[in-house]
Amino acid sequence: DNTFNIAKVRQDFPILDQKVKGKPLIYLDNAATTQKPQIVIDAISQFYNMNNANVHRGAHTLSDNATELFENARSKVQGFINAKHAHEIVWTRGTTEAINTIASGLAQSFLKPGDEIIISAMEHHANIVPWQVAAKRSGAKLVVAPINEKGELNFSIYKTLLNKNTAVVAMTHVSNTLGTINQVKEIVQFAQQVNAITVIDGAQAIGHGFVDVQDLNCDFYVFSGHKLFGPTGIGVLYGKEVQLEQLPPFQTGGEMIKTVTFQQATWNELPYKFEAGTPNIAGAIGLAAAIDYVNSIDRVGAIAHEQRLTNYCSELANSMDDIHIYGTAENKTAIFSFLMGDAHPSDVGTLLNQQGIAVRTGHHCTMPLMNELGISGTVRASFSMYNTEEEVAMLFAALTKVRTFL
Ligand code: PMP
Repeated sequence: DNTFNIAKVRQDFPILDQKVKGKPLIYLDNAATTQKPQIVIDAISQFYNMNNANVHRGAHTLSDNATELFENARSKVQGFINAKHAHEIVWTRGTTEAINTIASGLAQSFLKPGDEIIISAMEHHANIVPWQVAAKRSGAKLVVAPINEKGELNFSIYKTLLNKNTAVVAMTHVSNTLGTINQVKEIVQFAQQVNAITVIDGAQAIGHGFVDVQDLNCDFYVFSGHKLFGPTGIGVLYGKEVQLEQLPPFQTGGEMIKTVTFQQATWNELPYKFEAGTPNIAGAIGLAAAIDYVNSIDRVGAIAHEQRLTNYCSELANSMDDIHIYGTAENKTAIFSFLMGDAHPSDVGTLLNQQGIAVRTGHHCTMPLMNELGISGTVRASFSMYNTEEEVAMLFAALTKVRTFL
């Protein structure tokens, strides 16, 4: 049976079945990190119980086993995002390290004074600060593409910003604050007309839909395993072979070299050039298990379910006069940023937590976006496929209660 079975999915995530403050846990902080299904937890403990050894250092069975599991995990990621080659998948600690690797490498080898780097107004700090640093180092300039009042990229202005000096376009696939799904394929197409390198931050997209990097045709696509039901401390830097070949390594040391003398070193082949030191082996194996899990469920059904949650949440929010939603894009994923009356977001968050409901409050690592919106923070409820319509209703029932306390 390949239909989406919410009860079964919830059973696969043991953490969901618990009480917080005496109330059933309602976990609505999925944009910060997703929970882990049992098979991910088991894959990690199985690795440490049975196969733990360092990778690529051969000569014994456990090391061979660990290497095989580790490289199989890489191939699994390759298949999941439809990369052309397994060596286009580089392991990182997460999205942040992946963007730093790209930005730092481009600052060293590619960017020059007068170049322009375009980002959008809705970027996470992880896709702003590394480019600020890269711009300072290279003499390039950071250019910000604005958003409209719904929180969508203003496409006509974006197009006018592209010019012969545009060296890089770095944008998020899905906004972690507004939920906006960007038209990344079109963003990439226009960027290519001026030969800019394209970098897509997939942190919020990877857990909510299908990603095909060859179809998007971006040069780089990055994400974190922990937002895809995998462990923390593991992430992916996908780059087209030709781009990765040209990019200098971010860190140096063991594993990433071919030869070393006291005078100099030569770099290993892809992807190892970017994987200095002992990697997060258990993390990669855990992420592969998460991909197996996602592939085992009805993904189309899961996406449709999340869309229902999104619509239901909008409906309930619109029925409450004092709730203001930030991010009303036509094309939006299950992330809801809002303010209730003039209540401080952290007060709302605390009162929701007392009712067993986990949300995030604050600027969500998008301080420049908050400045544009003229606010200092929001309450953010973010859903995953294991959330239910009942939980959405409970959120609003809880908010009604919160109102009486404020
Ligand atoms: N970009 C976006 C859009 C995100 O939502 C996040 C995580 N909040 C990041 C980047 C950074 O991811 P990580 O902390 O896993 O490196």
